Amino acid sequence: MKILFATSECSPYAKVGGLGDVIPSLAAALEQMGHDVRIVLPKYTSINYVSKCEVVGDPMIVNMGYGTEFAQLLRTKHGNIPIYFIEFNRYFDRHGIYGELGHGYHDNWERFAFFCRAAIDMCPFINWAPDIIHTNDWPTGIIPALLSLHSKPNILNGTKSIFTIHNMAHHGYASKDLLRFMGLYEHYWHPFAMEACGSVNVMKGALQFASKITTVSKTYAEEIKTAEYGCGLDDVLKYRAKDLVGICNGVDTDVWNPAIDKFLPKNFSAQSLGGKKICKQHLQRELGLANGLNIPIFGVISRFFHQKGLDILCNILPDVLKNMNVQFAVLGSGDQHLEWRLKDIMSRFGGQISVWIGFDEQLSHLIEAGSDFFVMPSRYEPCGLNQMYSMIYGSLPIVHATGGLIDTVDNYNELTGVGTGFIFNDLTDSALYNTIGWACATYHDRPEDFEKLRKSAMKKDFSWSKSAKEYERVYLAAIGKS
Ligand code: ADP
Repeated sequence: MKILFATSECSPYAKVGGLGDVIPSLAAALEQMGHDVRIVLPKYTSINYVSKCEVVGDPMIVNMGYGTEFAQLLRTKHGNIPIYFIEFNRYFDRHGIYGELGHGYHDNWERFAFFCRAAIDMCPFINWAPDIIHTNDWPTGIIPALLSLHSKPNILNGTKSIFTIHNMAHHGYASKDLLRFMGLYEHYWHPFAMEACGSVNVMKGALQFASKITTVSKTYAEEIKTAEYGCGLDDVLKYRAKDLVGICNGVDTDVWNPAIDKFLPKNFSAQSLGGKKICKQHLQRELGLANGLNIPIFGVISRFFHQKGLDILCNILPDVLKNMNVQFAVLGSGDQHLEWRLKDIMSRFGGQISVWIGFDEQLSHLIEAGSDFFVMPSRYEPCGLNQMYSMIYGSLPIVHATGGLIDTVDNYNELTGVGTGFIFNDLTDSALYNTIGWACATYHDRPEDFEKLRKSAMKKDFSWSKSAKEYERVYLAAIGKS
């Protein structure tokens, strides 16, 4: 099959969260299965620092509802996969992807609507007719509606769209002007199309018009059909239930693999754990934590947003640090109030906790490698990658029982000594405090169990091979070949 991924993030060119990791690694797995896979994303300023691109022809026409624009198409290769960039400086020559300094750009709907149309118009421009356009979250969510237009490029007459929900919470709201802007007719302004509560809801439109819908874990696929997790679109998802599939994300094991990780001071594996101790010592030194190989380190790498439940962690951290002999290594940024609370805790417990505000790829690898545990108290988690990375690096995840966290972590069973992490059901201060205490007690009092859990976690298979086959089945069903 010919498969075009349309995306707002793709590592190493542009990444804010898990979407950036998932796209190139899923694309590579599909390419290895013999498919012709290509990726298109906007050319943000950051791409200048990562990649040299070749210019593809003269500027191409982008057919907006109000008239034509010209955008330059650029191209590079990531492994065997052609990556196309849409260069249009008015919208994309900016330092952020969605915004800067914690504030989203005011014209995001316009920027990504333009990108959606450009991704469509790119296909005749390069004379390539994909069987599937795989769209991801609201920034590419107008593509399914555009493919439903009679006036789309002829080359796309047989093309089907897949829409993957990486996060149900962000819908992409716009005024009715979006329809005119995109050349979508009046009848898209309807509760059975894109209208919701007097606005255009881009994700709703994607859920209505995509041939098939996927989300990134089986549990989340069930959760989003309920009012609690459906963010107001649960009825649409129930209506489309037979076209909705949960497929767990995999991990790019060329990038997230402690045996070959180029960011680590020493590599290690489940068979040879010596390097992990060196990573732990290095992490303590780098972050100004007290030396001590037998003090368990708890890692946290996260966007600081309500979803991630770090406010709950902040509620209990002072007591954890007072009452338990533990250390915390925290990396992330986002909500300024949370940044402030964490820095305040660091100022009171120096040497026991380090809080690094910012985005740092290298440090994120070192924290995964040097920690003994990894904490994810997420309110909801569509899939979550960090808990999988932490298991691969032998840092046992401590997770709230939600979404993909349930699907990927096996709770420690004290009777059998089996498991790969620690799961708590209620997202309360006391449940999180007690689970950190449980992990800490396991580390000190049952070291054989701890080592057994660590080895089991490191041996789990998180490669893309199984999930990529599931995507292949969805694509085949979409084009009527299943
Ligand atoms: P989400 O997509 O909701 O942010 P995931 O767990 O699926 O959560 O993926 C997060 C990805 O972003 C991981 O690769 C993680 O290491 C990375 N990440 C998040 N915050 C940072 C940060 N401050 N610095 C480096 N990497 C980060």
